[in-house]
Amino acid sequence: MKKQIAAANWKMNTTLGQATSLLQQLKGQFPVLEQYQQIILAVPFPYLSLAQTYTQSLQNVYVAAQNCHHKASGAYTGEISVEMLQSLNVQYVIIGHSERRNYFNESNALIAEKINIALQYNMQPIFCCGEPLEIRKAGTQNNFVTQQLQESLQHLTAEEMSKMVVAYEPIWAIGTGETATAAQAEDMHTHIRNWISKTFGISVGSALSILYGGSVNANNAQEIFSRSNVDGGLVGGASLKAAEFVHIVEALK
Ligand code: PEP
Repeated sequence: MKKQIAAANWKMNTTLGQATSLLQQLKGQFPVLEQYQQIILAVPFPYLSLAQTYTQSLQNVYVAAQNCHHKASGAYTGEISVEMLQSLNVQYVIIGHSERRNYFNESNALIAEKINIALQYNMQPIFCCGEPLEIRKAGTQNNFVTQQLQESLQHLTAEEMSKMVVAYEPIWAIGTGETATAAQAEDMHTHIRNWISKTFGISVGSALSILYGGSVNANNAQEIFSRSNVDGGLVGGASLKAAEFVHIVEALK
């Protein structure tokens, strides 16, 4: 069965005090999850251990890093390796977020390298893809996303692909308050699932969790998550308010 996932991306937000308070509130408010449901908290690097401490007693709640380096270790001052993340028992890592692509020039090829090293260390990548506004306006979003999938995922084995989570995040909807309609999300998720099934086999495609990201909030989550190919969301801004994120978790199928 496909996992239904509510993933929070705190981005570069919160001080230690704010992170502690948010984790405390979330811990007290999360509902009991079904076996096929998961919550993932992608917190800033300095708070990964703290988040582990708060969530380790909770069923189906995991911690994620927001990025990793593409090399195993070495002279890369300021960078974080997957080996470090693994040693903290972090299970997931977001790879290819559009903010990394745009502000840090991450290419599809570099993202492929990050996915490889994460899988090598038994971490589960949450691979982000999605088109900019001009591509959506031109109506070529399916080709654009196909190219991202081809250049970052096509080389994987079916077994490796089965460890991935994919997040479709149209760039025009991230942090803008503008959300893709449920129909637009479902169209793209269907396209992604079809590509995965064609490339890696139907069993991999049908088991893959595909999350929608882009201005998900407590008001729109239920409608978006209700679509059959939408398996939850990757949530930025709205995940920084405990009550709002809990509502989003409750909107999971
Ligand atoms: C994100 O950071 O992945 C995201 C979707 O942000 P927001 O929910 O704020 O649009």
